[in-house]
Amino acid sequence: MLMASPLDEVLTAAEPMAWPKLGDRTLCDACLGRLTGKAGHGLTNPERGRGTRERFRLATDGECWVCHGLMDELDEFLDLAAGRLAEWEFSTFLVGSRVDPEIVAREEALWTELGAAHAEAIKSELNREIGKRLADRMGKEPDFGHPDVVAIIETAFGTVEVQVNPLFVRGRYRKLVRGIPQTRWPCKRCRGKGCDHCGGKGKMYETSVEEIVAAAIIAQTGGSGHALHGMGREDVDARMLGRGRPFIVEIKEPKRRTVDLANVATAVNASGVVEVEDLRPATGDEVVTIKEERAGKVYRVLVRFGAPVEDEKLKRGIASLLGRPIAQRTPARVSHRRADRVRERVVSSIDVARSDGATAELRVTAEAGTYVKELVHGDQGRTTPSLAEALDVACEVLELDVLEIQDTG
Ligand SMILES: [Zn+2]
Ligand SMILES: [Zn+2]
Repeated sequence: MLMASPLDEVLTAAEPMAWPKLGDRTLCDACLGRLTGKAGHGLTNPERGRGTRERFRLATDGECWVCHGLMDELDEFLDLAAGRLAEWEFSTFLVGSRVDPEIVAREEALWTELGAAHAEAIKSELNREIGKRLADRMGKEPDFGHPDVVAIIETAFGTVEVQVNPLFVRGRYRKLVRGIPQTRWPCKRCRGKGCDHCGGKGKMYETSVEEIVAAAIIAQTGGSGHALHGMGREDVDARMLGRGRPFIVEIKEPKRRTVDLANVATAVNASGVVEVEDLRPATGDEVVTIKEERAGKVYRVLVRFGAPVEDEKLKRGIASLLGRPIAQRTPARVSHRRADRVRERVVSSIDVARSDGATAELRVTAEAGTYVKELVHGDQGRTTPSLAEALDVACEVLELDVLEIQDTG
């Protein structure tokens, strides 16, 4: 049996189409070929178009009724795209296009009129053809999943827009001081513009873990902005110690993507405020997983008692809190931004590192999402049982640090 040639497959697909309905409309080779674009592997659409034109004796003169000459301008878009992309460092790219809706409407009307069952859309040809030529010219790889940059062809305006995807760096951070937030905290009153409330800074704290880490990366990459995605967050007044907290920092519109991460770590660690380790490149998908992970944590809590508490009493009080559900109503201090509800958490261990009757230093190991300050002071009955309730003594949290995040990474 003879194998049908690719062109035979095209002509077989074109055979049942209602060619007389084309009337006096002329199509360019590419637009004609696209009508059978999904038949005959290995051919370009202009090759399909030339074969079809010859076989069905279709007109050759005049402007293309579908694209009005757009398909002859691919090299101009190619030059434009290459020029725009040259401003950015990238290794993978993708071409997208926004096709003039009138062209799309004419093309789709033609599919219906002629009964084209194997047609390819003009957008798909533009993306593929300009993408292939760009890859050859620039020596870069197309990437359909996570391209560094996307060149978007605007056919109606004859322009190319470049969309630069963020750069992601993953690592663990330690926050060595109290009093700075994990992420930049914009002033609500002025929304970042600067006002009396925020001392003209546009933000509520001088700096943040986010700003210190992002600045060290942006010094190398440039960029228009940043975000930090942490595996949970500690309070502003709590330190983050031990091996640190997993995070991903996102740099928006980086000019360069080659980053010396050892150099970033050195710069951050020199701040004396934040330290980072295990820095590595990451993807946007990891942002979702890092935010979903529910890791248990170990805390150091320094407590001051409202009345003297002997060691034996402290131990009995602690024992009554372990391994049973602690009901925590949304704390008063966060109720303005979180829904008011009661949730149950389990505390697996509380060790007394030191106690002198007036104060005690505890090591608390608790399930993800436990409000530890409230576990200690009881939040006026909103958390029950609590250490204050178990001891029947007011408990004040003087210091809180996160010592360990028990993540799987
Ligand atoms: Zn055309
Ligand atoms: Zn302000």
